[in-house]
Amino acid sequence: MIGLVNFAKEPYSVELRDIPVPEIGEEDVLLKVDAVSICGSDLHQYAGKNSWKVNYPVVLGHEFAGSVARLGNRVRGFKEGDRVASETAAVLPPDSAFIRQGLYNLDPKRLGFGYGVNGAMAPFVKVPARCLHHVPAALSLEKASLTEPCCVAYNAVCVNSHVRPGDSVAVIGPGPIGLLCAAMARLSGAGQLIVIGIPADARRLQVARQMGADTTLGEHGEDVAEWVRNFGDGYGVNLLIDAAGVSASLKLALDIVRPAGQITKVGWGPQPLNFSLDQLVQKAATLQGSFSHNWPIWEKVISLLASGKINLDLLPTRIAPLTEWSETFEEMHSGRIVKGVLKP
Ligand SMILES: [Zn+2]
Repeated sequence: MIGLVNFAKEPYSVELRDIPVPEIGEEDVLLKVDAVSICGSDLHQYAGKNSWKVNYPVVLGHEFAGSVARLGNRVRGFKEGDRVASETAAVLPPDSAFIRQGLYNLDPKRLGFGYGVNGAMAPFVKVPARCLHHVPAALSLEKASLTEPCCVAYNAVCVNSHVRPGDSVAVIGPGPIGLLCAAMARLSGAGQLIVIGIPADARRLQVARQMGADTTLGEHGEDVAEWVRNFGDGYGVNLLIDAAGVSASLKLALDIVRPAGQITKVGWGPQPLNFSLDQLVQKAATLQGSFSHNWPIWEKVISLLASGKINLDLLPTRIAPLTEWSETFEEMHSGRIVKGVLKP
């Protein structure tokens, strides 16, 4: 079969290669991939800018859905032909304390598809059955391939943050995760919903407005802190979701969060910080990290997608055959589309 392989750390070490169909174990399924969505992390690995360890050569892709082609002897609850979406924690230490806690996503020894083990940018992928979720008929497999980033956003906004109806919420960084966080905040009853970007984000900020943001800032180089000082009673916003890929956005978050408010950081940035955290102390604000997702989040997000309560039609998406991976990566990198979905 032909898969998209990231074969070295050097920039642009990605190509289509002829690779064997994976062998499966007793507790795995062989999943026939229908759709695999491109993540910012795939683009980072493509550009050689990943800060995480990659087991080269590896097939890219961790956001995917498809159907069960074959099952291991000990798999229960699924049969051939079932439509499924898959979580990302492909390998877990069997004795993990975090499995017992239901927080296996936080085990530092976990390995994910697309960097630790072969991912889904290929016609078939080997998946442990514990990763699978049934996809209802009302949800297309193309949309189901976007379950994973929706789960990242759900965990950040609906599990790791406190939003009460009417709370003001600001999202920094209108990438796919930031836009989906805005959608989750809307769903959670946010009052004023603000999405903050930079001039290069003009297109994405327009999408944010379509997805329910009341205000978007940064497109014309506005002074965001000044805007927030003139908003409401002037004390700042209740909840800040930092979904930007640079550390410096935390400075802005500290500037505009309301005393006793919360900052949830879901965006990664390898750069060191060079500012004081005194505002965190003085405002008695809560700084919360959020990473990945677990089983109950997947079940809830799939039901929200199937019922249309999360509307992915608003996200500008290109659906293309796997052979057009390079153009699709490029279009997503340039921001012309928010998401690329490949069909192997
Ligand atoms: Zn992802």
